[in-house]
Amino acid sequence: AFDVLIVGGGPAGAAAAIYAARKGIATGIVSERFGGQVMDTMAIENFISVKETEGPKMVAALEEHVKTYEVDVMNLQRAEKLVPASSPGGLAEVVLDNGAVLKSRTVIVATGARWKELGVTGEREYRGKGVAYCPHCDGPLFKGKHVAVIGGGNSGVEAAIDLAGIVGHVTLIEYDARLRADAVLQAKLTSLPNVTVITSGQTTEITGEGGRVNGLVYTDRVSGESRRVELAGVFVQIGLLPNTDFLKGTVELSRYGEVVVDARCETSVPGIFAAGDCTTVPYKQIVIAMGEGSKAALSAFDHLIRSTPE
Ligand code: FAD
Repeated sequence: AFDVLIVGGGPAGAAAAIYAARKGIATGIVSERFGGQVMDTMAIENFISVKETEGPKMVAALEEHVKTYEVDVMNLQRAEKLVPASSPGGLAEVVLDNGAVLKSRTVIVATGARWKELGVTGEREYRGKGVAYCPHCDGPLFKGKHVAVIGGGNSGVEAAIDLAGIVGHVTLIEYDARLRADAVLQAKLTSLPNVTVITSGQTTEITGEGGRVNGLVYTDRVSGESRRVELAGVFVQIGLLPNTDFLKGTVELSRYGEVVVDARCETSVPGIFAAGDCTTVPYKQIVIAMGEGSKAALSAFDHLIRSTPE
């Protein structure tokens, strides 16, 4: 059995693994995709002490750092269930999708988050056929074409700026009367010649022809009129959902599905800790996820030295 088993191999999980392994305790990390959301990130300019880097480059460095220590890295494995220890000092169980059961004295949940879906007609049908969620992955597929970005928060505006450099034209559609992104991003966006910003626009349908997206329909929430834009692609950027479905009924979750943690990354269940984007900690960022993962590992260690194994 492990002393610390980490579920999730993003920045939070990687940091937790390094902090735990440095205590000389049996550490395992199981992840569906090592690197998490960072794999989908192009430019990272806010990772303190590194002026600029790229997601896959950071993930390679994370992996190299983790592998410097004695950590059992189990990649491409999905956790489907968490069974907390039945008594103090007992073993918690993490059940994987391949049926394997991993046992550990403590568990750190660091399963991150994923993009939210718009939920309109055509979205699922044309997913991967013009409907995209990751501008860094799919942007180049729309070179020279007209695309839309749905959502005027930081991720939507970042995506629009990014895409404007690759595609022919970007139409950004925001539901609210104004954009919610940081002022610096908005200033950048409006300085671009090939971007149109539509506010008070509710996207109602993504349309297609011949198996590919050919446009979208939105309602102008001021006039009530329905309008159509001819497009080759739609990037949905309306928020993140925590990957916590497998925890329902075990640890306390917020109404958004985030794992409720205290300042020590403790969950409602002793011996189960959580860190990063899957938790109630505000501001979902790499540097924060790493700090939280480190904290969770130190709390798990603290828990271990205060409990007697069964
Ligand atoms: P994640 O990175 O989401 O990692 C979660 C891990 O858990 C993954 O390994 C995943 O495979 C795994 N997992 C999930 N469910 C399961 C399961 N059931 N079983 C096993 N494993 C599971 N932040 C910045 O600071 N700067 C930026 O410039 C920046 N740009 C971004 C750009 C994009 C496009 C995106 C998507 C995010 C960006 N972020 C940025 C946010 C940043 O990537 C996240 O805050 C950070 O990755 C969160 O780390 P995490 O470890 O909590 O979760």
